[in-house]
Amino acid sequence: MDIPRIFNVTESAHRIHNPFTPEKFATLGAALRLEAGTRVLDLGSGSGEMLCTWARDYGVIGTGIDMSPLFTAQAKLRAEELGVADRVKFIHGDAAGYVSDEKVGVAACVGATWIGGGVVGTIELLARSLHPGGILLIGEPYWRQLPPTEDVARGCDAGKISDFLLLPELLASFGRLGYDVVEMVLANQDSWDRYEAAQWLTMRRWLEANPDDEFAKEVRAKLTSAPERYAAYTREYLGWGVFALMTR
Ligand code: SAH
Repeated sequence: MDIPRIFNVTESAHRIHNPFTPEKFATLGAALRLEAGTRVLDLGSGSGEMLCTWARDYGVIGTGIDMSPLFTAQAKLRAEELGVADRVKFIHGDAAGYVSDEKVGVAACVGATWIGGGVVGTIELLARSLHPGGILLIGEPYWRQLPPTEDVARGCDAGKISDFLLLPELLASFGRLGYDVVEMVLANQDSWDRYEAAQWLTMRRWLEANPDDEFAKEVRAKLTSAPERYAAYTREYLGWGVFALMTR
């Protein structure tokens, strides 16, 4: 079981597979006022940076599930490296439908809401693992400004304009689902650069190491077009944030 190979190439050197920096994850952890011993569930945990650093800095106990064998292996290594392997567990698998045996204080899906079939389904899924009074975390894109055309939306790697909302609308949508938004930390253009521009050097190095790979043509085409496309579309139009929710 694996994710499409392109991500395992372009994001192989990323610790954070989102337009977030280590500082922003630290800010989020501090904003949530995490207490030592709090259980955190993370669906689509990637290379485990959020859980590992929160275990180190705030003493949380975490479980992450991710479909990429590569990212899951990196997460386990990171836990060893930060000395938190006794507090965080990473499972390779499909997180769709995953409900934890023991209820958690924080249930997160940070940049992978397709796992629950969209934001609404993912909130319902996470809620099934949550203690009463616990916090849900949803990492999701929003439009910084509405794309003028569907072509511009596709330039941002969105399927269509209606896939995402403007920030006030996204926040209001959580309210309509019966949740208070109790905190949020947003990406900015600099943190987007760390996610997007970091892929370019990874692709370049991968091409040098794998010139005869059947995938090389696709990676070459992506590297050639990515900088201009990113600057014209994603960087201008797409926002991203992690939203902390509590039931009303
Ligand atoms: N939350 C992490 C990773 C976000 S990227 C971070 O912030 O760094 C999205 C992640 O979802 C990838 O790691 C990908 O491997 C994972 N993923 C995609 N589909 C999945 C599924 N069905 N179940 C579990 N993980 C999935």
